[in-house]
Amino acid sequence: MFHNPLSSLAGIGPAKAALLAFELGLETWGDLLNHFPFRYDDRTVFYLVKELDADMQTAQLRGIITGQQLITTGKIMRLVATLVDADGNKLQLVWFNSIKFWQQKMPLGHQVVVYGKPNFFRGTYSIIHPEITVVAGALATDAIATDNPAFENVAAQSAVTENTIPALSPVYSLTEKLRKKGVDSQVLGKLVQQVYDQTKQLISENLPLTVVEQYQFLDRKTAYQLIHFPTDYAALEAARYRLKFEELFFNQLRLIRVRGLRKQQLAGWPMSKLKLFTAFYNDHLPFQLTNAQQRVLREIRQDMGSGRQMNRLIQGDVGSGKTIVAFMSMLMAVDNGCQACLMAPTEILAEQHLNGLQPLANAIGLPIAKLTGSTKAKDRKPILEALASGVLPLIVGTHALLEPKVHFQRLGLSVIDEQHRFGVAQRARLWDKNSRPDQSNELGIETTDLPEVIAPHIMVMTATPIPRTLAMTLYGDLDVSVIDELPPGRKPIRTSHVYQSQRQQAWHFMQQQIADGRQIYVVYPLIEENEKLDFMALELGYQMMQEHFNPMGIAISMVHGKMPKETRDYEMDQFVKGRTQIMVATTVIEVGVNVPNASVMLIESAERFGLSQLHQLRGRVGRGADQSYCILMTDVKLSSETRERLATMVRTNNGFEIAEVDLKLRGPGDILGTQQSGAVDLKLANLATDMVLMTQARDVATQIIERDPDLTEPEHIATAEYLAGSAATGLAWSRVG
Ligand code: ADP
Ligand code: MG
Repeated sequence: MFHNPLSSLAGIGPAKAALLAFELGLETWGDLLNHFPFRYDDRTVFYLVKELDADMQTAQLRGIITGQQLITTGKIMRLVATLVDADGNKLQLVWFNSIKFWQQKMPLGHQVVVYGKPNFFRGTYSIIHPEITVVAGALATDAIATDNPAFENVAAQSAVTENTIPALSPVYSLTEKLRKKGVDSQVLGKLVQQVYDQTKQLISENLPLTVVEQYQFLDRKTAYQLIHFPTDYAALEAARYRLKFEELFFNQLRLIRVRGLRKQQLAGWPMSKLKLFTAFYNDHLPFQLTNAQQRVLREIRQDMGSGRQMNRLIQGDVGSGKTIVAFMSMLMAVDNGCQACLMAPTEILAEQHLNGLQPLANAIGLPIAKLTGSTKAKDRKPILEALASGVLPLIVGTHALLEPKVHFQRLGLSVIDEQHRFGVAQRARLWDKNSRPDQSNELGIETTDLPEVIAPHIMVMTATPIPRTLAMTLYGDLDVSVIDELPPGRKPIRTSHVYQSQRQQAWHFMQQQIADGRQIYVVYPLIEENEKLDFMALELGYQMMQEHFNPMGIAISMVHGKMPKETRDYEMDQFVKGRTQIMVATTVIEVGVNVPNASVMLIESAERFGLSQLHQLRGRVGRGADQSYCILMTDVKLSSETRERLATMVRTNNGFEIAEVDLKLRGPGDILGTQQSGAVDLKLANLATDMVLMTQARDVATQIIERDPDLTEPEHIATAEYLAGSAATGLAWSRVG
């Protein structure tokens, strides 16, 4: 039944069916049932014409239709009817389509309820293609001024068919094309009703009954009825609560099972020896690890020692010290006869990682190399050979590490920095890098008792904090560790928001900081759509600063993506070495760059950056022992959303708190980019606001899988069947049946 095509419904011909499929992707009865209203109008509220406002999305009015007129302007014909309300004020009702029908059926002289979006034009309000319901003439005895001529005939007319309007009427997302063909929310609601009436016996429970009881959920059939046709707000809430839970529960069930299956199936190198690891820990650690770093390392050690493949996401705010955790994990791999790689999203970052890891590797006596797209052929060859033979245990690089030519003798651990720039598919490509697994083993590992297919452990590091709910939905197939503590002695960065008119003060402040020996970043936005103008602003800003600062003996570097690489590297290097005091840049410096002496981050046109980007940029300072500052400079005219973004930055340094606000302001799709937003394609639940429910759904799903991994207990049969159905087809209808 849920597969039935929409054309089998009364009122839907092939043309409308095709339009519904094209515009909304609705093809079957099941699709329609799962097309939930996106809001509900309170149809107990009536407006008078004098209360209308052109900004209203919709309004409902009562009145009498006093006349109609066909008007032609050029080639366009429209039918205009006049509605007079209880005050005697007029509202125009306008039709461009179905004119014939309305000319004949216009309930002239009848009392009606009209509903639609009010428009205001040349002193008159109108509603185009309103929804009209003829109602009884109760108005005549109500608050109507009976001397109003418009209402004279009300009593006589009250014999017409009386319709009722539900108190909460569903509003469905529709398109202009559909509306033009007469498909409005009322029409769609009636179609849903048809489907529901015929299929309700088949809408069966898919949650375990104990869960339904424990959470006092509505049964599924009732929930579907009430979400489309709520009797009141409480009923609507109950329906949404149940269906949201269901959505989140199955999302989690799927992810947890994937993770479980992978754990069972994919062997990882068993890594229990900790020789270099311990030596490094005892003798070469440059500082004491924070509790969070120690905890995360323990979690990693457990994973890597288990004999199963590790898939772990390490989240840690900028500066939380992920690098050392990565390095010590890489040591674990080497301790157990394997190689390890660290992959960064850009050349600059790969370079920085090499600079960071080299001294650590040297201290423990291990060679390390770097492989990127710009590695010259003559350098590349020995590196590739060393990786293939196994003499090179550690490598840092970019996407270049994924190229088919790159083979490892035995890759045991891949660390991926900055997850957001690597897709899931790329993660997977790292798995088949061990193309010659059992050749001569120069690292001296016992290979006899290893399983045949061994995937390297995968560790993904991200400095872009992801709200817990989002992480659970997106990376539910990964285990997550959080480094939620900064190394001691860091002073929280002080952030302020200033206007462009205060630039002189800002520059004066910069001058003082430089006099104290500090360095400064000044960042300009540069986006493709606005590239020319942005570029001019950057150049102009650079010139102005040179004119202002050079006479004081302050030198300025500039980097941007359009520069030849050599120039950029040179400029960067000048700043890193402290030969220039100010670095003017675009967001190329966003990720990972580490200059501990930099204490001020001035962000120009800060209103044009997203929250997480602002947070990333700010993370470039505050890395040394000195007090650091972030200055957000903006135009005076700002939207309220922008103000909230800036206020959030000023209020907190906590990346997770910022991520939560970001999620609320922008939604998951924008945060992750369209590429990944498919992974969190939820119809009802909102990851920003349904955090508690999300956590409950995950807990319930986890408990069930722990007790009954294959869902074979009688109580779980329905759940298992539903899961299998939705996994097999991926179609929305299976959510119902
Ligand atoms: P991120 O998590 O942003 O990659 P890094 O690993 O680059 O952070 O660490 C930032 C800075 O903090 C580095 O200079 C690093 O040496 C230092 N650091 C890391 N852990 C500690 C610690 N436990 N104590 C003191 N300094 C630390
Ligand atoms: Mg880092």
